[in-house]
Amino acid sequence: MFTGQCLCGAVKYQSPGPALFAVICHCRDCQRASGSSGVPVLGVPKESFTWSGPVKQSRVTGGSGLPAVRNFCSECGSLLFGTPESEPQLATIYVGSLDDPTSFCPKVALYTSQRPAWAKPAMQLVEHAALPRK
Ligand SMILES: [Zn+2]
Ligand SMILES: [Zn+2]
Repeated sequence: MFTGQCLCGAVKYQSPGPALFAVICHCRDCQRASGSSGVPVLGVPKESFTWSGPVKQSRVTGGSGLPAVRNFCSECGSLLFGTPESEPQLATIYVGSLDDPTSFCPKVALYTSQRPAWAKPAMQLVEHAALPRK
């Protein structure tokens, strides 16, 4: 079970899992959305992902050409989770908002071509310069 919330506590979410993937995305959109060098992302099935509270959605065309939808708390602005239109069966939890972020163990880094040199991770990850084709 994965549970999390925003900074002010107005939005809470939960997923029974399973974790589908664990990546760090360094694309410029994730950098701008988070104000950081990238976003650690946990993929879970959207079907069983639920949330409560006031969410504001940002819709920006993603690498797939379809909107990448990022969900923020409308009260405090915390970046919480994604609901990409390119993969409607998927919810992407932004790991810093988890109640227990230590449950996350990244395996893969995406868009490393856009990652600043100062943000190299301490652990060994499978690196992709962009988004790998399926
Ligand atoms: Zn909030
Ligand atoms: Zn990204």
